[in-house]
Amino acid sequence: MKKCKHCGALQGNEHSNCIDCDARLGAPLTNAEEVEEERKVTEKMTKLSNKKDYFYVNRIDKTVAALLIIGAVLSLIFRISGGGNVGDAGRILLSFAIPLMAIEAIDLLFPWISWELYKIKFIFSVENADDLQPSDLMIYIRRIFPYSTVISGYVLLIYIIVKLLQ
Ligand SMILES: [Zn+2]
Repeated sequence: MKKCKHCGALQGNEHSNCIDCDARLGAPLTNAEEVEEERKVTEKMTKLSNKKDYFYVNRIDKTVAALLIIGAVLSLIFRISGGGNVGDAGRILLSFAIPLMAIEAIDLLFPWISWELYKIKFIFSVENADDLQPSDLMIYIRRIFPYSTVISGYVLLIYIIVKLLQ
């Protein structure tokens, strides 16, 4: 395998000039260099598939989003109709839970919205903000907030229902 020093294209040893830019090619890569080049290509492919994973809304995401929307609606109903039985703490918690669950549901269903917002941070510091890609870690982080919101939201709803039944 040969690598063009001018444009970085990889090509077979039979070429003496680069197939992409026609620059003169040097000696073939050593075995170690070839392994390194292959590793870089694999890394690039992994990044691309991660990007797809980041924006992919899977079945669990859709289920959690549906639960969040139901939770937000129930919280709204309890907030309006619960009256004094819900208690002061209950009313405050419900007031937080309604927008939080709604926002997290939207975030889960439309991951590109928060990604575009996240990129705004870099518009002035990074030259090509559009080329930024979600990291491996972000794939998990993007789901941590909605998933934990649905759990705490339903714990709150159970607490409210118990209070109302008292
Ligand atoms: Zn070239």
